Amino acid sequence: MSSHDETWLVRSGLLRSALEQSFNSVLITDAQPGPMGPRIVYANPAFCEMTGYSATELLGQTPRILQGALTSPEVLQTLRECLQADRFFRGSTINYRKDGRPYTVEWNISPVKDEAGVTTHYVSVQQDISAVTEARATSQLLAQALDATQDAVMIANAQGEIEFVNHGFELITGYSRVEALGQNPAMLKSGEHTEAFYGRLWAAIQSGQTFRAVFINRHKQGHLIHCEETVSPIRDAGGAVTHFVSVIRDQTARAHTEQTLREQATRDPLTDLLNRRAGEWQLERAFLAAREGQKPFCLIMADVDHFKAINDTWGHPAGDQVLQRVAAVLRTGVRATDSVVRWGGEEFLLVLPYCEQAAALLQAERLRERVADAEQGEMGRVTVSMGVAELQRGETLANLMERVDQALYQAKHAGRNQVSGG
Ligand code: GH3
Ligand code: MG
Ligand code: MG
Repeated sequence: MSSHDETWLVRSGLLRSALEQSFNSVLITDAQPGPMGPRIVYANPAFCEMTGYSATELLGQTPRILQGALTSPEVLQTLRECLQADRFFRGSTINYRKDGRPYTVEWNISPVKDEAGVTTHYVSVQQDISAVTEARATSQLLAQALDATQDAVMIANAQGEIEFVNHGFELITGYSRVEALGQNPAMLKSGEHTEAFYGRLWAAIQSGQTFRAVFINRHKQGHLIHCEETVSPIRDAGGAVTHFVSVIRDQTARAHTEQTLREQATRDPLTDLLNRRAGEWQLERAFLAAREGQKPFCLIMADVDHFKAINDTWGHPAGDQVLQRVAAVLRTGVRATDSVVRWGGEEFLLVLPYCEQAAALLQAERLRERVADAEQGEMGRVTVSMGVAELQRGETLANLMERVDQALYQAKHAGRNQVSGG
């Protein structure tokens, strides 16, 4: 551009008009040395708006009127050094409006020289970046807050790249932030879900809904982790989905506890056999299956002989030990399809599907012998009596139970340590 053109631009007011309309604040000072330094010769309307001063208030003033307690002396020192060395300056600090309110300004200053190369003015373009700084501080605060939660938080963009994970993510998945960033969330896939599952996930989030499910993910170390997870789409102002936020809560510990609780609810704690409640349920199921399939079905009821005397002589804990030993003999002496139930104090019910009376009697006899042969230490011999009954055609379960009890009574009556077939 020739100097003629420039003169024309200034004269024509075009340049001035551009400055007046600029969203950026523009300040022009002279280049007076002296103790007071440069004076303001021009401030555009955006500058006046940013600082709260009118143009007339600013003219002739030093830009120092904008400085205050929080203005960085280091940044100002750099500025002075740049100007002295005739270099372009760019920096950021806190300045103050006329009403005293601080704002974060980012500004640059360039020297303007005359034809002889002497600096005559400084032009400064400034921007109030308080909102940006605050947003940055807020997002830093949010990131810190997210790190304080136990849940994992993962943000992926629409291209499927992980852009953010919090500390909880590192703890739950085993992957560090560095390992996760830029990766696809599929890195957590365990192979435990069907394609249909992922289909539902995509359908939900692409239609703008939050998807909530229990995900079985894979930890970096290879084991499975049960995660309660929500995946929510984030849209931009135009409504396009730009990101997905996943909040993941590790339920592995709970899943294990629930499993244990379920087992505890069905197990007798002393003998680890099925407890009465679970036994009744098992009995009912096996009974119905046998009747429906017209298959043979037998029950054995076993009762420890003179158990009261064992307790009385050797004490209750010794009695408990006897129960545990008898239970172990019964459990290890039946088929996998049979169930052994702790029916009462020292009474055990054996449920034998696909088993006829003759086989059940043999089975009972074998178990009786093994109990009688088992070493009980100083307590000597412990024996059991057993009743056996096979389901008759059209018989009710209550009737079958009645008959097996009767058979047991007979075995007791006949002298104990024996099996009766009713
Ligand atoms: P029988 O030969 O006629 O079966 O005589 P018994 O003494 O075994 O019969 P009884 O039913 O009179 O006694 C059962 C005893 O079992 C009474 C009860 O205190 C005891 N018992 C019940 N549950 C437990 C238990 O969990 N541990 C211990 N140690 N004893 C128990
Ligand atoms: Mg008994
Ligand atoms: Mg009894």
